[in-house]
Amino acid sequence: MVSFSDFYRRSIEDRDAFWSEQADSIEWQTRPRQICDYSEPPFARWFAGGTTNLCHNAVDRHLADRAQQNALIAISTETNTERAYSYAELHAEVQRMAACLQALGVKQGDRVLIYMPMIAEAAFAMLACARIGAIHSVVFGGFASSSLASRIEDAEPTVIVSADAGSRGGKVVAYKPLLDEAIELSAHKPQAVLLVDRGLAPAAMRAGRDHDWAALRSRHIDAKVPCAWVDSTHTSYTLYTSGTTGKPKGVQRDTGGYAVALASSMRHIFDAKPGDTYFCTSDIGWVVGHSYIIYGPLLAGMATVMYEGLPIRPDAGIWWSIVEKYKVTHMFSAPTAVRVLKKQDPEYLRRYDISSLRGLWLAGEPLDEPTAQWISQSLQVPIIDNYWQTETGWPILTLCNGVEKQTSRFGSPGRAVYGYNVKLIDETNGEELLGPDQKGVLAIEGPLPPGCLQTVWRNDERFVNTYWKSIPGRLIYSTFDWGIRDKDGYYFILGRTDDVINVAGHRLGTREIEECISGSANIAEVAVVGVADSLKGQVAMAFAVVRDASGLTDDAARLKYEGEIMKHVDSQLGAVARPARVFFVNALPKTRSGKLLRRTLQAIAEKRDPGDITTMEDPTALQQIKELLG
Ligand code: AMP
Repeated sequence: MVSFSDFYRRSIEDRDAFWSEQADSIEWQTRPRQICDYSEPPFARWFAGGTTNLCHNAVDRHLADRAQQNALIAISTETNTERAYSYAELHAEVQRMAACLQALGVKQGDRVLIYMPMIAEAAFAMLACARIGAIHSVVFGGFASSSLASRIEDAEPTVIVSADAGSRGGKVVAYKPLLDEAIELSAHKPQAVLLVDRGLAPAAMRAGRDHDWAALRSRHIDAKVPCAWVDSTHTSYTLYTSGTTGKPKGVQRDTGGYAVALASSMRHIFDAKPGDTYFCTSDIGWVVGHSYIIYGPLLAGMATVMYEGLPIRPDAGIWWSIVEKYKVTHMFSAPTAVRVLKKQDPEYLRRYDISSLRGLWLAGEPLDEPTAQWISQSLQVPIIDNYWQTETGWPILTLCNGVEKQTSRFGSPGRAVYGYNVKLIDETNGEELLGPDQKGVLAIEGPLPPGCLQTVWRNDERFVNTYWKSIPGRLIYSTFDWGIRDKDGYYFILGRTDDVINVAGHRLGTREIEECISGSANIAEVAVVGVADSLKGQVAMAFAVVRDASGLTDDAARLKYEGEIMKHVDSQLGAVARPARVFFVNALPKTRSGKLLRRTLQAIAEKRDPGDITTMEDPTALQQIKELLG
C-alpha cells in the first residue's frame, strides 16, 4: 500500500499521470485529449477533449450492476414521508424530469434555477439538468425574494423548478409567493416555472408560465431521454456564494473534472464502496449538498439519504434511527448540528444500533475540541474534520483514510489533500512560510485540482482579481482563511482574513446584510460583524446609526424597531442572514480616513481587547457600544 505522503507528492509532481489514472474512475464517451491544460493561468481546463455526462456516471452507469439497489432515500420528518428509489426508479424519474424540462424549452447550456426544499424532485431536477447538458443553479430554500432575485438576474434561467412550500420544525414556509416576488423584482424573467405541489401551501399559478409537475410528469411517464455527451469542460452548474461585496458570486463548475474529483474522493477520502449508504445532513442549496448528497455518493454507486427535517425532531434520536434502519456507513454533517445534539439527552445516541457506521465527517466551520470529543466518545467511530469551500467543491484539507489510515488531531482538519498544492503565505510580501507554526494566508498554487471552480459565472475578471491577485506579487489562489501548519503537515484554520462570517456552517457576507439593513428608511449607516457564539460558531450582529432618533427614546421603541429590521432581513435575504441583535448607536468606530473598524467592533462585541485604537476618529464611539453590550 502506498503511503499518503507518496500519493500526495505524485499528485503534485507527476500531475498528469496521477490524474490520468483518476480519470478511469468515471466513464467517458471519448477519452480526454489532454489531462490538464494550464496554458492560460489561472484558468485550468481539466480533461479537455474528453466527453462524458455526470448523470450517466451517477445513474445509468450503475443500472447493469445495481438497478434494484437503493439509490436515493428521501426522508421527511416534516411531512412524515419516506421513499426509497432504486437506481432503476431514479433513472425513470430523472428521464421524466428531463423530458418535462425539454418540453418547457430547456436546451443544452441553458440555465435551470432550482429553488426547492429537500425533496426527491430536487435531486431529479439536478440530475435531469446534467443529463441534457443544462446548467443547474440551486438556490438555498431558506433564501428569500431579494436574494433569489439577484440570483435569477445573474443566472438568467430558462426555467425555474420550485415547490409550493418547504417546512422547518413543523412550520410551513411557502416558497411560491417568494418566488413570484423574486421574478417580479428580477429584470430577467424565466420562460416557465415547474412547480412541485406538495399540498402544503396554496400556490397561485400564473397561466402560460407556471406548470404543475405532477400533470406534466404524467405526460412523460415513459420518457426516454438520452444523456447528452458534453465536453469535460462544459459547465455543469453554478452555485452562488457570498463574498465581501453585496453581490453574490456564481461559482462555476465543469463536468469531467468535477466527476473525477468526486469519484476519486469517495474512494480516497471516504473509503466508500458501491452498496454503502451515505447520509449527509446538509442541504442541496449548499456545496456540501451538491457534492455529498447528490453527486459523490451516486457516482460511487452508493445509496444516498436526503433528509428534510431537524436533527432533534421528533426527538434527538432521529438521525441514529435512520442510521440503524438503512445501515448507514458514512455520515457527513456540520459541527453546529453536533453542538445541537450535545445539548440533548445522550441516551438518544444509545437507543439505536449504529454499528454500520464507519465514520462521521464534519465540515463547514471550525470543529471545536469539546464537540469533537463528545461525538467521538458517543459514537465510537472516527470523527473526521474536513476543510473546504464552495469554490473548491471537495475537501482541501482532511485525512485521506482511503489511501492510508491517519490519526486525527483535535483542532486540525488534517493535511493537504492530494491535488491541492497548499501553501501558507505571508500576506504582506507574498513569501511562502516554510517553517512550522507560522501564521499565514492559506493559499493554493495553480492549477487548482479538478472539481474546483472554473471561473466566476460570466465574470472572468472577478475570478482573477478576487481569488488570484489578493497576495502581492503572486498569482496564487487565496482561500481568505488564516492558517498554521505543524511540523507534521497538519493544518489549523484560524478564521477568515476578510469580512465573510460563518453562521452554523453557512457562509454569509456581512456586506450583503448591511446593504439589506441600509434599505430600511430610517437607517443612516450600519455595520454587521460576526460574533463568537457557543452554538452556531458565529452569529451576525448589527450596529446601526439611525437618521432620526426621536422615535427611539425608550427600550420598547428600540426593541420594536429591532424586530422590524430583523423581519426586513428575513423577508429580503432569508432567516439565515438575520442578525442575532441590532444595536442602535450614535456613531460607528472608524479610522480618520473614514474606514469602518469592523475588527475593533468585533473585538468589543466578543469582549476582547480592541487593541490599538489611537487611529480612531472618535474613540468615545466605543464607550457607548461597550455599555450596550453590557
Ligand atoms: P463555504 O464556501 O460556505 O463552505 O465556506 C467556506 C469557509 O468555511 C472556509 O473558507 C472557512 O472559513 C470555513 N470552513 C469550512 N470548513 C471548515 C473547517 N473544517 N474548519 C474551519 N473552517 C472551515
